Amino acid sequence: MNRCRVLLLNAALGPLDYRVPPGMTVEPGSIVVAPLGPRQLIGAVWEPERLDAEEVGDNRLRPLLHAYDLPPLAPPLRRLIEWTADYYLSPIAAVLRMALPSTGALEGARSITEYRVTGHVPDRLTPQRAQALERIGERMGLVRELAIIGGVSDGVIRGLVKAGAIEAVEVTIDDPYAKPDPDHDPPALETAQAGAAAELRSAVAAAEFAPYLLDGVTGSGKTEVYFEAIAEAIRGDRQALVLLPEIALTEPFLKRFTARFGCEPVAWHSGLRQSQRRRAWRAIASGEARVVVGARSALFLPYPKLGLIVVDEAHEASFKQEEGVQYHARDVAVMRAKLEAIPVVLASATPAIESRHMAEIGTYRELKLPDRYGGARLPEMAAIDMLQDPPPRGGWLAGQLVQALQDNLEAAEQSLLFLNRRGYAPLTLCRHCGYRFQCPNCTAWMVEHRFTRRLACHHCGHVMPAPHACPECKEEDSLVACGPGVERIADEVAALFPEARTAIVTSDTIWSPAKAAEFVARMEAGEIDIVIGTQLVTKGYHFPNLTLVGVVDADLGLAGGDLRAAERTFQQIRQVSGRAGRGDKHGRVLVQTHDPSAPVMQALIGGDADGFYAAETDARRAAAMPPFGRLAAIIVSSEDQAEAAETARMIGRAAPSHENMIVLGPAPAPLAMLRGRHRLRLLVHASRAVPVQEIIRDWLGGVRWKNSVRVAVDVDPYSFL
Ligand SMILES: [Zn+2]
Ligand SMILES: [Zn+2]
Repeated sequence: MNRCRVLLLNAALGPLDYRVPPGMTVEPGSIVVAPLGPRQLIGAVWEPERLDAEEVGDNRLRPLLHAYDLPPLAPPLRRLIEWTADYYLSPIAAVLRMALPSTGALEGARSITEYRVTGHVPDRLTPQRAQALERIGERMGLVRELAIIGGVSDGVIRGLVKAGAIEAVEVTIDDPYAKPDPDHDPPALETAQAGAAAELRSAVAAAEFAPYLLDGVTGSGKTEVYFEAIAEAIRGDRQALVLLPEIALTEPFLKRFTARFGCEPVAWHSGLRQSQRRRAWRAIASGEARVVVGARSALFLPYPKLGLIVVDEAHEASFKQEEGVQYHARDVAVMRAKLEAIPVVLASATPAIESRHMAEIGTYRELKLPDRYGGARLPEMAAIDMLQDPPPRGGWLAGQLVQALQDNLEAAEQSLLFLNRRGYAPLTLCRHCGYRFQCPNCTAWMVEHRFTRRLACHHCGHVMPAPHACPECKEEDSLVACGPGVERIADEVAALFPEARTAIVTSDTIWSPAKAAEFVARMEAGEIDIVIGTQLVTKGYHFPNLTLVGVVDADLGLAGGDLRAAERTFQQIRQVSGRAGRGDKHGRVLVQTHDPSAPVMQALIGGDADGFYAAETDARRAAAMPPFGRLAAIIVSSEDQAEAAETARMIGRAAPSHENMIVLGPAPAPLAMLRGRHRLRLLVHASRAVPVQEIIRDWLGGVRWKNSVRVAVDVDPYSFL
């Protein structure tokens, strides 16, 4: 009798045992298809001693249906999946799902049918058809994908196929990728860079677990340094993985990579077409994809010979996944490196306090790049006291900043205004009756977007047309915008400098790598004088003619007052400042604040990163906050407010008492309603030695709640919403 244990892709199920039919061979990690009732599910074979399953007699076992002809998931990846499920209190099947692609890629169909525009104009060109053809342009994809790009229904695309304006093309998905050449165009490194690169190269060659913190000021050439480590991995026939925090950073990265290695790396992110995804997954799983650059989800892919992981902009909060399996990619990357016995590089100009602390206690090796590349100087920083130099009524830019913009325009140099708020205004109210537009699904104001003439909720995506009259008192033209968003700053700039060419950079305007490339090209061609952007422009970009950065509201991020408010503000403003003066020209940064004496402002203006980190670290230590203590949030939510409150109280009453651990709440979460669900939060605060996961697992395991209530645990939370 040949039996095996299988972990199926169904989060509600535990592992199940199956019979291996004659002629089929499987081993732990094999990807298989198994029957479940009338259905067929994909799963992975697992070591029975590592996962408990219900005992089922041999005679009652059903046979496996199929085993894919693919390399099995390797032991380090299987251990990573177990660890992630355990640490983040998630169903192991939900973690396994991140390692496996769609069935299409597993089957390895050699080609897929995609569609593209032929150039033939259909006889009947409706506005919808015209819009679809224009938006699709040169792109290809499935009918569904083209419909999304075109902003039309599948039916419109099918109609265009019939009319001959769009045609089918067979796309092979097993085309090999070009192999990056480690010696294509190595750069001349400066002394500090060369030292760091040499250390990383030998770490890659040694093939042992070695965590590095690559701490270099903005513009110091961190990328060139870790490129040398990647080159070493390629030479040793190993794979390398680079994680980026935003898909918008992929495009500039691909360009730099191609210049260094002669071809593009394999990209992995949510913007890929299905055919690209299949091809990438298969190349990764076969080991053919040498270098993969991707979003955090690339971390769980089945690299058979991983030799290096790089987490770029490692301090970024977007590495924390906030839905489903709530993992932090920076921490999981270190764990994968440990399990694979390879080096991992956390690169940042403004490392997280957690990472700095690990370097201080010697767990991480620190590589420092204290100077900018090529002798460029760090920009000069100055605060503008908004109480001393207030902007004119109805404006948001102080006189000094306006003057600096004027000077820069005259010098034909580029400027950047940073405000981390999308849209036109964060709040709209009626001046007649005081009515405020709130999202019907969330505890949040509707944000006005003037370009699209809509109000939008930034939490759930609810949108409504911008109304002409107040819905409460019916007064017409009575609505006023309160506070600025980037669109409003752009209006102010247009009024001040009608001749200036401006661009707004937010996730509303740069929503794909192609859009990012377009923006970069316009900047490089000098077609933009003033950029107005959110955190999307704070990192990654290198524009030599950008010499002025204005921070419109430096106090904005401090308002929430959560654990990381000061740290985040410091990182964001340092990062955006780092965009100034990266070439031969000297850069200048003006920071508008109402409290120039606040410690975080003082540290920013004085360039005292060490002082800031020391003070923040001391404060965390004194409060036993991470990394000196541990936090876990338990979010209870339901569409029914009473039901959510009752369940949260019940969980609160069942809280175990444990030395060095306290449970706060339940209290309404700061976003007390989100996507139509009422939310309450319990916060567990414990010392490092407390086995928080085990305690929470036992605790919640002993409480029953209705199916309509959702209880989510967020271990090491980053968002305190
Ligand atoms: Zn009104
Ligand atoms: Zn909402």
